[in-house]
Formats: sequence, C-alpha cells, structure tokens
Amino acid sequence: MRPKRLLCIGLLLFFTSVSALAQGAMTVSVDATDAARNIIHSKLTIPVKPGPLTLFYPKWIPGEHSPTGPINDLVGLKLSAGGKPIPWRRDDVEMFAFHCDIPQGVTELDVAFDDASQPESTASAKLARIKWNRLLVYIEGLRSDAINVKASLKLPAAWQFASALPIVSERNEELQFKEVSLEQLVDSPAIIGANFRKFPLSSEGVMHEMDIVADTPAALEMKPETLAGLRKIVQEAYALFGARHYRSYRFLVTLSDHGGSEGLEHHESSEDGVGEKAFSEELELLDFDELIGHEYTHSWNGKYRRPAGLATPDFEQPMRGDLLWVYEGLTQYLGKVLPARSGLWTAEDYREAMAAVAAEMENQSGREWRPLVDTAIDVQWAYSSPRAWMNYRRRVDYYDEGSLIWLDADVLIRTQSNGKLSLDDFCRRFHGGQDTAPLVKPYTFDDIVNTLNEVLPYDWRGFLNARVNRVNPHAPLGGITNGGWKLVYTDKPNTEIRIADHARKSLDLSYSLGVLLKEDGTVMDVNPNYPAFKAGIAPGMKIISVNGRGWSTDVLHDTIASSKSNIARIDLVVENGSFQETYKVDYHGGERYPHLERDSTKPDVLGDVIKSRAR
Ligand SMILES: [Zn+2]
Repeated sequence: MRPKRLLCIGLLLFFTSVSALAQGAMTVSVDATDAARNIIHSKLTIPVKPGPLTLFYPKWIPGEHSPTGPINDLVGLKLSAGGKPIPWRRDDVEMFAFHCDIPQGVTELDVAFDDASQPESTASAKLARIKWNRLLVYIEGLRSDAINVKASLKLPAAWQFASALPIVSERNEELQFKEVSLEQLVDSPAIIGANFRKFPLSSEGVMHEMDIVADTPAALEMKPETLAGLRKIVQEAYALFGARHYRSYRFLVTLSDHGGSEGLEHHESSEDGVGEKAFSEELELLDFDELIGHEYTHSWNGKYRRPAGLATPDFEQPMRGDLLWVYEGLTQYLGKVLPARSGLWTAEDYREAMAAVAAEMENQSGREWRPLVDTAIDVQWAYSSPRAWMNYRRRVDYYDEGSLIWLDADVLIRTQSNGKLSLDDFCRRFHGGQDTAPLVKPYTFDDIVNTLNEVLPYDWRGFLNARVNRVNPHAPLGGITNGGWKLVYTDKPNTEIRIADHARKSLDLSYSLGVLLKEDGTVMDVNPNYPAFKAGIAPGMKIISVNGRGWSTDVLHDTIASSKSNIARIDLVVENGSFQETYKVDYHGGERYPHLERDSTKPDVLGDVIKSRAR
C-alpha cells in the first residue's frame, strides 16, 4: 500500500541510535494468546511526570497514507499508577487523544487496553498479524524516533513467529525484543501462526527470507520454480536499484481465506496477506507475484525515498498525498517489471497486466472531471470510497495511471537514448547510492524533475504536468504505443481481469456492456459512457433475467457473444429494491477484453523493459 506527506525536507536518520531527546523507555507487553478470537491484550508502562498529560493512539499510519489507526478497536482502556486508577477523558475534537492528570510523586503510568479487531481482518483461527500501532499509546507531541520502546509478545501455545524486530530472549512462547524507537517498532510488525515455514531467499551477504504462516500445513508447500523466481526477484531488485537500504529483509506472508488480505510495506519487511491457495492456484499465484514485487519495491520507493508530505515525524500530523503517483505509481510499475524480469511472470503475463491497466485507465469516465493528482490529494478518503460509481469517481488511479506514466517515461528515455539509458538509471540515481541501514530521504516534485533531467535532458516538468496535474480525456498510453505495441480488444479473456474476477467473485464486462457484476447478477459498477448505463442500469440493481432466461453468468456471456449477429437489443430484467423493470441494452459488439498486439513498425521496447539485468 500506501503513502503520505509532510513538510520536512532533509535527511532523517532512522533506526541507528536512540535519540538524545529520549527519556526512559516505555514498555509494551502484548498478550496474543487470544488472537484467534480477534482480541489482543496490551499492557504498557510509560515514564511520566506529575501534571496534565495527553496520550495519543497512532492515527496516521505509514503506508496507509490516511488517518486509519483503528481507534474503534481500542477497548477496555484503563490507566493507573501504583495500583490506583487514574481517570481519563477523550479529547472532544481529536478522537485519538486521551487526557489525564498524573498525581504528584508518580513517575510511571500503567496503561492497559485490548485491541478488538474485526473478524476476517488481521487474524484467522490459525494465524495473526501483530501490528504494534494497534497496541500502544504514547505521549502526545513527541517524535516517534525520540521515544524508545521495549516490547514483548506472548504467543498462543505452539504458534510460531517472524518479524524484522531483533529478539533479545525467547522463552516458552514469550519473546522479548530489543529496545528500539517507536518509529522502528511500528515499522516492524510480526506474523504469528500455528503452521509456519521459512524459505531463505539469499545464500550469502544480506539475509533475505520469506516467512510464512498459513491456515493449513498443505498451504505452505511452494513449487521449486516459484522459490527460484522469488530468489531471482531479490537479485533483480538489487540490479535495478544498485543499493539496498535495509540490514536484512523479510517477506511476512500470511496464507488464509479468513485472515484478511493485505499488502503493507516496511523498510525491512512487508506484510503480504493473501488467500490460502496462493501458492497452488494459478491465478492467485500470479497475483501473489505482483504483490511481492510491489511491496518489496516499496523498501526503496516509499520507505527510503518518500514524498516530503508523507515523511511525517509522528503519527499525529496529517500526511499530504499529492506525490502518490510516484510513491504508489512507480511502485506499481516496478511491481510488474520485477516479476517479469525474474521469471515469476512470462512476457505475456506482463503484457496482459499492462493491457488491463491501459484499458481501465483509458475508460475511466472520472478522468473527464478530475486530474490524476486529485485522486492522490484525496487519499484520506480514496481507499474507503464505495465501489458504486467507482468508474465515475476514479478512486485510486494514482496507482495504475501512475504506472502508465512511468512506462511512458521509461520508453521515452530508452528511445531517445537509442537504448543506452532507461528508467533503471533514474532508479539508481534516485533510490540507489550506497548500501545503508533504513533511512528516510524525503523528496519533492522538483527532485523528480531534476533527477530525470540528469538522466536525460528533456522537458520533464511539462511531461509530468500534462499527465498528472491536468484533466486529460485520454490515458497516457505512449509507453505502449511507442514501445511497439497496440491496445486491442478481442473476445479472448484477459489474464489480469480473470485474476480480479477470481478474487472478488465478479464478472467484469467493462468493455462490452460497461458493467462490473457480482456473480449473482448484482451490479457493482457501471461506466456512464457505455450501453448498460445508457439503458438505465445503475450500481445496486440486480439482473435476474437475460433475454427471458433466468440469470446465470453463462447465459449473460452467451448473450453478449451472440450480440454481434443479433440486431435486437438485450433485454435485462432488473431488480431495484423491491421493484422490477426491463431495460433494453443496445449492444452488438460481442465479448471484448483488452490485450496488447505487436506493432511491427516499431522496435519492441516493452520487451526490453522486462529483460533480466541481474547477473
Ligand atoms: Zn503500495
């Protein structure tokens, strides 16, 4: 996922030593023995002085770019000192702040609360993700790199554990971690589970590892070619960026159909939550490969190099999302390039993914009212925006349209330099340098423009402004067309769309009728420029019959396929609440799905983009 911004220019050093500003360390003792019941117990001791005090629950979560700290899940809050209760009152405006008065003579405050998470969000019966930001409060107003924390974690019996957080001691199912800054703690989540396996991904030098917890032992089986591709992706990323900014790296994978899906980046690890069958089911594995490429890229693009507006010093200050088309867009781009370079994806898998992205962005009706940058500025609400009218809303296009902009830039650099330079050169300058421990190096729009100009002199400011900051009726498809390919539509299903349909149990007919349906016929979204909308259909309605036959996905597919030779409109009987109505859809184009077709008049630059560069 997901970025933020703020105004602090300069180099922030993280994780290296305890700040001189720090007072004594607070302790966080987490009891996860009830994780399978979606409740985790937390007890804290916080060094304090007598007088008024405000405690703050982490609100702005790195990678989520939004005030998404799950404050509703904080329950059972009790403050005390020396065994005596201390009353608290929540702030009337800032719901994440709790005020209290520390009595004379008290130097240590005890805080206890439970994290009551929603079912199917962070835990299943057999595994859980431990997110420290959900399990602590801290003294308001302090920088998160100026607070030191000693954390411990108690596991359910026979469960195992993985995290980037260094361990001091391990006894029975109780782990004591090294004292670190609050910043590092929150950036170092853990996965815990009954079924555990780890796969080393590098044999020498810096340690890379995939740690996996799963709902079943069988889910932990990985094909040799998948493991080989994952080892290769580590090499390809190093070859791309030329340096690393972590001491070791762990992919923290959870395999569960009930433990919540998630991708969240950190400096030295990533949370990669996917379905139980991600290693065995073909479409889910392709999706997993991309998730790994995306979250791993974030260690460089997002964690190390971060838009100034997202590099906030604590969890209280608002983040600014206007450069998310870099943070997420470039990550989305490289997150597809790396699986292709490492052999996890075939060249055709890559082209299918880019075709799906190109078609979706070109057909976003929201692009008629909204510049791309507005989707990024709006990030506080974008992720939670409803599915209905999504095409018109244009929700988080800074991901996918961002990736098209970076492909456009890559192909331009390759073409203008006759293949001598590429976006890899930008990445090496911008994200590479020396190997270091985790750092945050904030950047601005000007830094992007300047580094692009160092690689290849060009009007990059104009190039980016035209694509990012202005309303643009067409998607930036220059990377595809100048890269030797054409976006075409055929009746053959697109792999990337099949992956999405499989994941959300949907039927994506975006390029024929212009609708996205649930498998039961419920309309999830419509495109206002397509026939279904023009016939009167809207999100929330439910199709119950097609040309007089009862609803099934096969009946609708067959009807659309035969529409080419049928001059009659398609009759859809649709429920809207408790009413039914027949809509006549004027469509005769057959099934249509996007693909890339080779344009032999131009060199295959797209093919060059995904060539392996690791030795
Ligand atoms: Zn991301």
